[in-house]
Amino acid sequence: MPETKHFKNYIGGKWVESATGERYENRNPADTDDVVATHCKSDGRDVEAAVAAAKEAFKSWRLVPAPERGLMIHKVVEVLKRRKEDVSQMMTREMGKVIAETRGDTQEAIDCGMYAAGEGRRLFGRHTPVEMPDKFGMAIRRPVGVCGMITPWNFPIAIPSWKMFPALICGNTCVIKPATLTPASVGNFIEAFEEAGFPPGVVNMVTGGGSTVGKAMVEHPDINRISFTGSVEIGNLLAGQCGAVGKPFSAELGGKNAQIVMPDADMDLAIDGALWGAFGTTGQRCTATSRLILHEGIHDEFVEKLIARAKRLKVGNGLDESVDMGPAVSEDQLKTDLHYIDVAANEDKAELVLGGKRLTGGAYDKGYFIEPTIFTGVTPKMRLAQEEVFGPVLAVLKFSEFEEAVEILNDTEFGLSSSLYTRDVNRAFRAIRDIEAGITYINGPTIGAEVHLPFGGVKGTGNGHREAAWTVLDFYSEWKTVYVDYSGKLQRAQIDNK
Ligand code: NAP
Repeated sequence: MPETKHFKNYIGGKWVESATGERYENRNPADTDDVVATHCKSDGRDVEAAVAAAKEAFKSWRLVPAPERGLMIHKVVEVLKRRKEDVSQMMTREMGKVIAETRGDTQEAIDCGMYAAGEGRRLFGRHTPVEMPDKFGMAIRRPVGVCGMITPWNFPIAIPSWKMFPALICGNTCVIKPATLTPASVGNFIEAFEEAGFPPGVVNMVTGGGSTVGKAMVEHPDINRISFTGSVEIGNLLAGQCGAVGKPFSAELGGKNAQIVMPDADMDLAIDGALWGAFGTTGQRCTATSRLILHEGIHDEFVEKLIARAKRLKVGNGLDESVDMGPAVSEDQLKTDLHYIDVAANEDKAELVLGGKRLTGGAYDKGYFIEPTIFTGVTPKMRLAQEEVFGPVLAVLKFSEFEEAVEILNDTEFGLSSSLYTRDVNRAFRAIRDIEAGITYINGPTIGAEVHLPFGGVKGTGNGHREAAWTVLDFYSEWKTVYVDYSGKLQRAQIDNK
């Protein structure tokens, strides 16, 4: 068995046990004999200590010139590059996705760090002419203080990096609470900050449950921002709590993403996209393709070929390079997947054309493996077409007119990612205009975001903020408008010059 790693909380530049003294262990969802790591089961007292450290560190970190902060982030990037393989291997053991994808997750953090480091030499404000003579006007970004990050398990390093690097480059300090299922990956990420020589208190990690550690963070008066990625249920709960005390809150929530395929599309390319979108990360991406909307003219041939390809996907332990799809992240997630399969078959009365079962026998018995699953005959109002499964369960819907396909795509409470396969440029631009989603891919699957373009969704997927790119800086900084009057006399705007 590979080694079990023991993590503590990281507070004020030190690895410390939690105030409770309690610990818990996490096991590999592909092999439950493998204890990947143990972690602190913390409570509000640990949050208190972490916030105090972050608040103290903010006093000096905010004064470090932003290009200097960028250089420090660059050192984290160098550590991550060197440790890419070992942190990716542990990530696969921790949450199951295949090694090629966990390498991608770590690479995303590297990319995000490089982008944020460069931002240290930009963080552009604005200068503009003003109404009066001998007067100067500009707007600059100020840091906001201590920022809290509450993150999910499906992108264990990438998502924390999307939140922490931009917060840090803006001059803020951070307290992160990783998902209970994936603190080891975040612990490895924090180790990179430690090795890079980040000053004590600038980054802090407290592990433990959402209803204890997460709640204490949301309620703490010295945490000035909460950035959350996770389920709609928890996101909406926290939005209410933050709203009640006027705490800015950024939410990245669920999705019910769809891929439309027109009859003029390159069918093989669209099948590649659907397979990767639906079954990559075992369907556990917020941007996963969970609905496939096929033109009636190609529906049957497309489904036949898709099934043939999906049957060849190898399901197994993600550390095996030949495996295409790993396990569900946990027994609970597996149960949710099987529940939705039951709903689709027995309540929705959709047609199960592939998979549908837990995989058992041999090594499968030690993990939470499930077959890639496809339902056809799904109609827009069925539960399988409306509710997020977060597993490898694909709903296939049929349409006859392009406008109808867009209508079906838009007909959910979510609006994260979307995709259209067509060779018709006019249709492509109509889709870009009419699809209600934060992201639209043309001739690409619903997954594949890059760190230098805004990321986020509309409708129930979020609350209007965008992560990544230049847009995220607006969450982690506040604008200050500055007027400098060098006329030597009182000048009254809107009065003297009218
Ligand atoms: P989750 O259950 O909502 O948990 C997310 C985080 O919130 C975890 O750290 C969790 O801690 C914490 N939490 C739970 N209850 C809390 C409370 N009362 N107060 C404060 N924090 C609390 O979501 P998940 O199962 O980890 O992730 C899956 C969901 O995330 C899916 O819906 C997926 O679509 C969404 N997601 C969205 C995006 C996006 O960018 N739009 C990206 C990835 C994932 P514990 O782990 O301790 O429960």
